[in-house]
Amino acid sequence: MYTYSRLEKDISSLRGAGVSTGSIGKSLCGSDLFFVHDGPCEGKQVIVTGGLHARENGSCALVMRQAFRFAEAELPVGFYFLPMLNPDGAILLEKGAEGLPNAEWLKKVNGGDDFSLWKANARAVDLNVNFPARWGMGKGNKFKPAPHGYIGAFPLSEPETRSLCAFTQKVEPAFTVSYHELGREVYWEFDGSDRRDRSIAAFIASYLSYTLVDGDLGSAGGYKDWCVTRGIPAVTIELGSDALTHPAFEEDIEEDIRLNLDLPLEIAKIIKNR
Ligand SMILES: [Zn+2]
Repeated sequence: MYTYSRLEKDISSLRGAGVSTGSIGKSLCGSDLFFVHDGPCEGKQVIVTGGLHARENGSCALVMRQAFRFAEAELPVGFYFLPMLNPDGAILLEKGAEGLPNAEWLKKVNGGDDFSLWKANARAVDLNVNFPARWGMGKGNKFKPAPHGYIGAFPLSEPETRSLCAFTQKVEPAFTVSYHELGREVYWEFDGSDRRDRSIAAFIASYLSYTLVDGDLGSAGGYKDWCVTRGIPAVTIELGSDALTHPAFEEDIEEDIRLNLDLPLEIAKIIKNR
């Protein structure tokens, strides 16, 4: 399992090696939303995120491995790697509710002690339906606290989503990649998408041998969705074969990690020349 304490160790080892690291803010329960920056600080930047959904823990391991890899390799554009955007959810997955201050309430919302299928943060808000992009109009949206699908009291009601939006507005990235699980698919489209963004999504799908999905399939409130509304080309990549079940950890998606490890370099080459 890629735990929050493993993340802290990895961040401090990168920092010790002189790599630029930091935090874009805090989770509801006070954990850091860490980033690693690789490549040039000037010019175009790309944001790569993992772990927005608690049970999709393998995505945290992949993004951190990319951060390590490109700390030593040349990149033509800058990359911000954010391996774990829902650390409270990761703590729930690892330790159950006793790892967090509002344990009794969380167990009630969850319907028991087994948090292995939990996606949300510590307020039972699904962070990937909390962004202001057709908020509350998505397929599968829920309107009260739940292990997944709850949109929150209002758009950006959560510290994790607010921090990610503010950081994105500051960086003004040329592209964003959101890693999720499962399905080996690449999503790119949302209301207002530029057709030319399909070409980079199609390249990624073909590079990974994943399925390119056209249309937004009723998606709303996602980070990728919000990026598109801001004019930032964005993709969601679903790691891991559909034959797997949640939660999917690093060891379950080894093949996908290998396939995706060098993807930032391929994306950088395209973004550099756009
Ligand atoms: Zn997800």
